[in-house]
Amino acid sequence: MKKIQIKTVKGFNEILPPESFRWRLVEDKFRNLLEGYGFAELRLALLEPTELFARSIGGETDIVEKEMYTFLDRSDRSLTLRPEGTASVVRAYNQYSLGKISEINKLYYIGPMFRYERPQKGRYRQFNQLGAEVFGEASFYQDAETLVMLAQFFHALSLKGVDLHLNSLGCEACRPAFRDHLKSYLDERKEALCGDCQRRMAENPLRALDCKNPQCREAVTDAPLISDALCDGCRQHFEGLCGLLEVAGVDYQVNPKLVRGLDYYTRTTFEFLAGDLGAQNAVAAGGRYDRLVEELGGKATPAFGFAIGFERLMMLVDSEVTPLTSPFAALIPLGEEALRLLFPIHVELNCRAAVTTLSFQQKSLKSQLKKADKEGVMYALIVGPDELLSGEAICRNMRTKEQSKLSLNRLGEALRELYHEC
Ligand code: ATP
Ligand code: MG
Repeated sequence: MKKIQIKTVKGFNEILPPESFRWRLVEDKFRNLLEGYGFAELRLALLEPTELFARSIGGETDIVEKEMYTFLDRSDRSLTLRPEGTASVVRAYNQYSLGKISEINKLYYIGPMFRYERPQKGRYRQFNQLGAEVFGEASFYQDAETLVMLAQFFHALSLKGVDLHLNSLGCEACRPAFRDHLKSYLDERKEALCGDCQRRMAENPLRALDCKNPQCREAVTDAPLISDALCDGCRQHFEGLCGLLEVAGVDYQVNPKLVRGLDYYTRTTFEFLAGDLGAQNAVAAGGRYDRLVEELGGKATPAFGFAIGFERLMMLVDSEVTPLTSPFAALIPLGEEALRLLFPIHVELNCRAAVTTLSFQQKSLKSQLKKADKEGVMYALIVGPDELLSGEAICRNMRTKEQSKLSLNRLGEALRELYHEC
């Protein structure tokens, strides 16, 4: 037989036990919190028509230019593995007319995203996001409610050193003039900018403001700031939001150079940054996008949303929250008849969440006890020919080494009682 070893595609992150238990605890907290705020879950397609992302995220963004997993299917349609959730949620909002169901729609999602990036700590090609979107509410109260909710989530997970950075990107009324102003500033310093920023200057000069390239950073030190160019509506929106965050006791820093890599944002944009994460320090990000629903063929609808990077979040969550994963009891049969007697008890207990182990192979008492010890069980329950004759099983407490007898007639019940005691 020719053996081959097949491994995952490079950078596709998988979650194994016991880490997967920790993930589920955090996921449950997220669901409970969001459902408390009136959000409902969407479980959407992983594969979308490429056009959805090219249109919504923007042709001049990192994601669309170089990070998407795009391919032709068997009928030559261009499809893309979703690189983020918002575009799909908006697509679904329009496709299923979710706006007709209720005026305000609060939707959340949890699941994998795919981006062709260089794999490194905190950056993968398949990674997971916890995200949410609110449709139909233009008020800055909505921005504040969502940001306070995120801060509550991080607080509930006891995260420390996570800072909220906030900016306003203006709207159709004030951004175009600012963009032109910034463009002429950048034109004068064109030579100092990196290739990406030079190329994007015509379409999206704002991106130069938060480019990580040291030379670009230097070039934009004295660049005009959008905060000085906001129209009255955008300024009131931003000030209103800041005021509500203060009342709620959520700390934030205004960062007028925060732009974010996606084209669809209007007004509020934000990032939660964690010092402990090193270079990949954004744990969550999002903002307002009042034009996107309409751009993707729906009725004009204001919207606000965010996405949390699940892998990065888990790097910040204390690893002590791992739940106890040891089984409660090892059922130890010595011989075929004992195995036959224990099997129905084993499946009955497992069905009631009392995890037991049962070896289906005929192993010696010594080796089964050794295994039980390794598994860290509370009890070992031994049934061999002698016990079958006497009608009583031996129940060994693995911590205290005390042994007692349990009647074979009511073994299931007795084990259930023990399980509830521990
Ligand atoms: P970054 O600046 O780190 O590239 P981004 O701006 O591309 O982040 P978003 O598109 O806003 O990220 O996605 C929201 C969150 O998803 C990020 O804040 C981050 O926590 C997480 N994230 C983004 N890309 C990756 C990736 N390749 N691997 C793991 N997590 C990621
Ligand atoms: Mg990115």
